[in-house]
Amino acid sequence: MRLLVVEDDKDLNRQLVSALEQAGYAIDRAFDGEEALYLGMNEPYDAVVLDVGLPQKDGISVLEEWRKNGRTMPVLILTARDRWSDKVQGFDAGADDYVSKPFHMEEVLARLRALVRRATGHATSELTCGPVRLDTKAGRVVVDGAPIKLTSHEYRLLSYLMHHTGRVVSRTELVEHLYDQDFDRDSNTIEVFVGRLRRKLGVEVIQTVRGLGYLLSPSPGDGGA
Ligand code: CA
Repeated sequence: MRLLVVEDDKDLNRQLVSALEQAGYAIDRAFDGEEALYLGMNEPYDAVVLDVGLPQKDGISVLEEWRKNGRTMPVLILTARDRWSDKVQGFDAGADDYVSKPFHMEEVLARLRALVRRATGHATSELTCGPVRLDTKAGRVVVDGAPIKLTSHEYRLLSYLMHHTGRVVSRTELVEHLYDQDFDRDSNTIEVFVGRLRRKLGVEVIQTVRGLGYLLSPSPGDGGA
């Protein structure tokens, strides 16, 4: 999952980015409204953390422009304490949730997990596919009850596929959702990661759909298309 963090307070931006990276997300960051607007218009984020009070263009205007232009990613706004009007304006502009400053990082993380799973049609924080269970809260993966140790990239890959079970996910889509914008992207590395992930899981849940991408499915298919 790839998120955008928009916050002009440099310390707070850094804290958010580090907590979210720790939680397994790929993160892009912006420090003003213009930069945020541009990134949100052009990059496919799975969710956005958007401060309301921003230089150059305020968060509400940024959000309105995204929505006007058909950008539907879940957006969590950060509002100043006691500014109930920020919340009302934010929801009316298309926000999905809010957290008031000062906030506990755990709350931001929990709300983002909820936004991401709702946007992908899941009701609980634990995702399952056949013998594979992924706990998005703890960042843990078990296969047939046994814990599996994954690198952050492997976890991110499995998490994206688990959120999108039952449909074919292309390599391009994976590259766009697993790496931040500064990462040296190469869709060939996806195949390497998928190979490693398959070996670590030890069960056949990731099907290759030739020419199209990957499909996570509990029943082993023939792998052909
Ligand atoms: Ca601010």
